[in-house]
Amino acid sequence: KKIDLDILTTAFAGIETIADPAQVAKLSQDYHTFSPVLAPKLEGKVGDIVVRPANEQEVLKVAAICAKYRVPVTVRGAGTGNYGQCVPLHGGVIVDMTRMHEIVWLKPGVARLEAGVKLAALDKQARGIGWEMRMAPSTYRTATIGGFIAGGSGGIGSIQYGLLSDRGNLLALRVVTLEDEPRIVELRGDDVRKVNHAWGINGIITQLEIPLGPAYPWAEVIITFEDFITAAKFGQALGNADGMIKKLIAIFASPIPQYFHALQEYIPEGVHPAFLMVAESSLESLPGLVQQYGGQITYQKPAQEAGKGTHLAEFTWNHATLHARTVDTSITYLQSMFPADSSLQLVEHMYHYFGDEVMMHLEFLRVNGKVTPGALQLVRYTTEERLNEIIRYHEEQGVQIANPHTYIIEDSGRKVIDSEQLKFKEMVDPYGLMNPGKSKVLQFKITS
Ligand code: FAD
Repeated sequence: KKIDLDILTTAFAGIETIADPAQVAKLSQDYHTFSPVLAPKLEGKVGDIVVRPANEQEVLKVAAICAKYRVPVTVRGAGTGNYGQCVPLHGGVIVDMTRMHEIVWLKPGVARLEAGVKLAALDKQARGIGWEMRMAPSTYRTATIGGFIAGGSGGIGSIQYGLLSDRGNLLALRVVTLEDEPRIVELRGDDVRKVNHAWGINGIITQLEIPLGPAYPWAEVIITFEDFITAAKFGQALGNADGMIKKLIAIFASPIPQYFHALQEYIPEGVHPAFLMVAESSLESLPGLVQQYGGQITYQKPAQEAGKGTHLAEFTWNHATLHARTVDTSITYLQSMFPADSSLQLVEHMYHYFGDEVMMHLEFLRVNGKVTPGALQLVRYTTEERLNEIIRYHEEQGVQIANPHTYIIEDSGRKVIDSEQLKFKEMVDPYGLMNPGKSKVLQFKITS
């Protein structure tokens, strides 16, 4: 359906909008360009207008207008998502939430926030009272909390607290519906699952309540190893060392560290490093464990200095892919979860089986109480067919792949949309206006 921009612009009077086509195109993008499969599929997909509500009342007004004119709606935080989650597949209105950045309140262990609050801003405030986010993506400097909950999965801190979708990592959220008369719905307890990781198609999140973790002074450490499997086993052992407080255990197979230009002096060619964030109080226990695995500590930054300059964390999680792609744009990636198995047999098998074509990057996290190797392997891309073959082989061997090369929810990590989310979707978005085309199950219901 052709969208009448004049009607929309008039209807949005009093709310900040952006109509400049170059700006609108920019705000229709995210980081799906990491995928050579997604890039051509999403090329040229742009919204018609961007609206930037400043408060919930304005969100209600925007929702009413979009419902009235049956216009597709794509909600957006900072646009750092990797699967084209905030690329509008059928044009329409882009709702940019970044003006809603109020920290509503902070209490020991809990924060209530507007959806557009940047993660780094929250951490800064929370640290003032001794707390911090339990986990954050490596994009924490720019990403919003609404975007993280709707589109992210975990990150720095997940070695302690698990994934974002784990019970207890999101306490409450509040959404505006896309009904003829939009309502505000607050979900608490297990009900939050109706919206968690729904890729922006289950209502416009305006506020959230998340638990916080105690803010330790985190030291940054690089340890190098002569061989990859020993480095990986060290990572597993540190993960298993329950007395040691840590926030990050990332392991890179050579030659990945060559892409980290700023860290060259700490990582000689050919070695396999572990990047760690460890509470300063646990640092004294580290050399013993390092020695046991024959590693060498080549870099150690105390917490006070870790705050200055680039954080080590900004070379981990999907930032490793970003750095590699800066050097070689033919590199893409996988998102994997290996089975929890302290012997790391399957990791070792894949490491040898694919050699240099699939370069191993492990991120240890806690899954159902067990220290588990997640992985964001770097893939030297040749064809889509070969990429699918690599994915299939992993799945056949028992590695779960959350495919980052699709914009369809059911083809990604989710595999299915859970029925509760579907039921909620039918209630909050009866006309199927929220980024239609993201789901196979949900029909594009715009009829006139
Ligand atoms: P956006 O990209 O703007 O949005 C993400 C999704 O949420 C979209 O579907 C959007 O429609 C929806 N959405 C946004 N705001 C709302 C709202 N208010 N209401 C309803 N829906 C909404 N992710 C991780 O989980 N862990 C990582 O470690 C990680 N590392 C990354 C590293 C790099 C270099 C890059 C490019 C990405 C990485 N990501 C990671 C992905 C992404 O950065 C994070 O998930 C981030 O939290 C997304 O926040 P955002 O504000 O940019 O969301």
